[in-house]
Amino acid sequence: MEEFLQSEEYATHAIALLEDRGVSLEDIAECARYLQADYHVDLRTEELLDSVKKVISKREVQFAIMTAVELDRQAEKGTMVDKELENLVESDAPLYGTDEVLAYGICNLYGSIALTNFGFIDKKKYGVIDRLNREGKKKGICHTFLDDIVGAIAAAAASRFAHRWER
Ligand code: MG
Repeated sequence: MEEFLQSEEYATHAIALLEDRGVSLEDIAECARYLQADYHVDLRTEELLDSVKKVISKREVQFAIMTAVELDRQAEKGTMVDKELENLVESDAPLYGTDEVLAYGICNLYGSIALTNFGFIDKKKYGVIDRLNREGKKKGICHTFLDDIVGAIAAAAASRFAHRWER
C-alpha cells in the first residue's frame, strides 16, 4: 500500500513550490481582487487571501500545482524524456494548449464564473501573470504551465468569493 501525504501537507508542499517559483499567495490574491474589483468597491487584497488558501486546500488544485511546476522545471533543465514535448513546453508553443487544459481542472471546481474569469485574466495578463509571462520568455526560464495555474487559482478564488462559497 502506497503512503500519501495528508491534504494539509500537500497544501504546504504546493505553496512552497509556488514560492520557489517566485509566486506568493498575496500575488494570487491580488489577481483575484482585480477580477472582483468591478463588483466590490474598495476590496482589499487581504480579503481574497483566505479565498486563495481555500482553493489551494483542495487536493485537485495541489496536484495541478505539483504537475505544472514539475513540467516547467523539467523543460527548463532540458531533462524531459520526450524532446518534442520538451520543445513545445520550453518554447510555450501557441498551439500546445495543454497548460490551459490543466488549469481548467481548477476552474471547473468553482463553476462558470471561474472559467470566464480565467479566460479574462489570461488575456489581460495582470500582475504576477504578466511577470511570469515576461520572465518565461527569457532563456533558461519556463513558466508555460505556471502562469495558467496561477490565473486559474485567482479565477477560482474570485468566483468562490463572488458566490460566498464555504468550500
Ligand atoms: Mg501557459
